[in-house]
Amino acid sequence: MLVAVAWVAGVVGIPAAAWPVLSVLPELGGVLVVLLAVRFRRSRLAAAALFVVVAARFTGGAASGGLPVAGAFVGSILPLGLMLLGPAGDETPWSVRGALQLALPLASGALVLAVARVAPSGSTGSVLLGFLGSTQVILWCLLVGAVVLAASWLVRRSTVEAGLLMALLGVAVADRQLLDGVAPDVALVAAQAVLLLAIVEEAHRLAYHDELTGLPGRRAFDDALTRLRGTFAIAMVDIDHFKRFNDRFGHEAGDQVLRMVARELSRMGGGGRTYRYGGEEFAVVFPSARLETARTAVEAVREAIARRPFRFRGLDRPRKKPRKAPPARTRSPGVGITVSAGVAAPGPKRQSPGEVLQAADRALYRAKRQGRNRVAVAR
Ligand code: GH3
Ligand code: MG
Ligand code: MG
Repeated sequence: MLVAVAWVAGVVGIPAAAWPVLSVLPELGGVLVVLLAVRFRRSRLAAAALFVVVAARFTGGAASGGLPVAGAFVGSILPLGLMLLGPAGDETPWSVRGALQLALPLASGALVLAVARVAPSGSTGSVLLGFLGSTQVILWCLLVGAVVLAASWLVRRSTVEAGLLMALLGVAVADRQLLDGVAPDVALVAAQAVLLLAIVEEAHRLAYHDELTGLPGRRAFDDALTRLRGTFAIAMVDIDHFKRFNDRFGHEAGDQVLRMVARELSRMGGGGRTYRYGGEEFAVVFPSARLETARTAVEAVREAIARRPFRFRGLDRPRKKPRKAPPARTRSPGVGITVSAGVAAPGPKRQSPGEVLQAADRALYRAKRQGRNRVAVAR
């Protein structure tokens, strides 16, 4: 959407009075993105923001279409730079790799500037700049950059790659405007805004998401509780004898079990949404289900987990799921994993989500006392 706004702004034109403000926005936005990206250790987003700042310095405040230096940097070097960041990892900015990523936009900018200043016309340097700024080369750089970033995003599915790809879209609009002789400031501001959104999204994910299981975490659960009104139900689910399992097979195998259980719980029916409450405990919120609906849904998942034998990856379990199941006699006997759960809904004795949660927790401990691998309903 931001990129579309930038494109429309380029077509319609911007009042002259807005130019001085617009021309500093890519730099101001860049400073903001770099500060936040360094704080969150997202070196790639910081490097991308620096690239856009350097690009804005080259294109200047007013229309500068046709300038070979701006064309070469914004057209070819910027897309290629963003492309290189796609498959790279996010580093601490003060590590060697992190520092190299941050140096990339500044060094390439300085190099282009030096060549433009020093190389006499007709020399290899100026011919190269002209080549990098030609329409054909720019199109290829944008295309290759988009393909690499899209592939990185498909592999990793992280917000950073999505942000880099969207920023490249903004750069493509900027290139179109440069070639048309329009100043691309709005497009570059859009690119910075996209990078800023990527950081905000990353910060949100860090706060609300559980990295190990991929489920929303405790903070997201606490938020969901405050939104509950009227008819709802809450379930607490806890893995049985998990300490024993960890002691016997190790922490790594324990983590694999947590992921397996989380995957099953994320398929909860009845409109239930599962959160990792902490440790080996999960909470399920049913925002509009009655007690019986919630109980049936939790019971179905409990049964699915109990039916599923657990095999480790890495010990005698292949790292990837084999296409064909190995013959039964070479397979290690699966270890059985079970969970216990307590379910509660508002009633005469309890109304608030907090009280219902406590009741679900008490029911869970009743399920444990009664022998585990079962679902108990709060009375
Ligand atoms: P019960 O059936 O009564 O629930 O017994 P339990 O052993 O599951 O319960 P207990 O609370 O004694 O132990 C919970 C264990 O969960 C202790 C801890 O080692 C383990 N645990 C908590 N978080 C993690 C984690 O993130 N990874 C792994 N591998 N283990 C965890
Ligand atoms: Mg337990
Ligand atoms: Mg527990």
